[in-house]
Amino acid sequence: MKASVVSSVGGGFDVQDIELDKPMGCEVLIDVKASGLCHSDLTLARAGIGYAPPVVLGHEVAGVVIALGEEASEFNPGDHVVASLIQFCGRCVQCLSGHTHACLQPEATLREDTEPARLRSSGGRVINQGFGLGGFAAQVLAHENQIARVPKALPFAQAALLGCGVLTGAGAVLNTAGVRHGETVIIIGAGGVGLSGIGGAQLAGASRIIAIDVADGKLERARRFGATDVINSRERDPVQAVRALLPGGADYVFDFVGVRAVIEQGLQMLAKGGGLYLVGIGDGATSVELHALSLQLNQNRIETVYMGSSNLKRDIPFYAEMALAGRFNLAELVSREIALSQINDGFESLKDGAIARVVITDFVN
Ligand SMILES: [Zn+2]
Ligand SMILES: [Zn+2]
Repeated sequence: MKASVVSSVGGGFDVQDIELDKPMGCEVLIDVKASGLCHSDLTLARAGIGYAPPVVLGHEVAGVVIALGEEASEFNPGDHVVASLIQFCGRCVQCLSGHTHACLQPEATLREDTEPARLRSSGGRVINQGFGLGGFAAQVLAHENQIARVPKALPFAQAALLGCGVLTGAGAVLNTAGVRHGETVIIIGAGGVGLSGIGGAQLAGASRIIAIDVADGKLERARRFGATDVINSRERDPVQAVRALLPGGADYVFDFVGVRAVIEQGLQMLAKGGGLYLVGIGDGATSVELHALSLQLNQNRIETVYMGSSNLKRDIPFYAEMALAGRFNLAELVSREIALSQINDGFESLKDGAIARVVITDFVN
């Protein structure tokens, strides 16, 4: 099958013909119809962290089930599914407590070292499979725990985005923070994941959803996702602008950027008892100083967000239904569709503020 392989650190993505093993155990073979470009794949490919090359990355996948391992019982051939990077065992104390995103044995969805590798080069060399998926490929072989069924009416390009970006953005608001109707929400950074956060705040029934970004085009689009107010932080001081709209501050601030100045501004936007949620991680080296007493007096909390605290079996079908019902703007997240061979160019185009998400939908070219 065709796959886009990272063969060396910083060497970019390159289409090759590689071998995929047959499904065994609880595995599901998926004919991939759409695969989203998420920025973390570019970070992994450039920095060589997480997976040693050669590796097939890609962790937002939608497609059709074509074959099953002998113990896979949840799906049938022909099912439309979304595969996600969340790996969980279903048996540990975190999973049994409902926290599958914090599973203690995420490697349970992978093959043992003693078993044949899922991916190999045509010469027989083992190729690593990113996140148990390897989504930048014509087919994906994954454990059924990492897969959720979606309605056939949902276009594949939209469905793919449910695997990571939507789970993270909307889940931060709905699951991690648990925003309730009538509360006030600020979203800093209106890119693809931040837009999903806005959609999540709308589903939660937030009374005010204030989007902050540096590009007017992104802020206009944020309104179409449900933002009630927008602030261009390049033109106005965002803390003062928030205080003009919400004199007491906001109940929740979600930072999708992850740089020091933004985190510090986010803290200054909080109402008494409000929480700051760190979703974006910037370049991975951001640090901030905290004033413990003022945080305590204002009863504020800071929480990190991992995969929107999502349960993919519950949340992926939920967002799919909300999109089909017109209650969640998924269609406009897909800015551009490309071929497998255009990944490098596709990642380059993510720098353009007009682009929310780029999705591979052509696996022949
Ligand atoms: Zn991702
Ligand atoms: Zn577990």
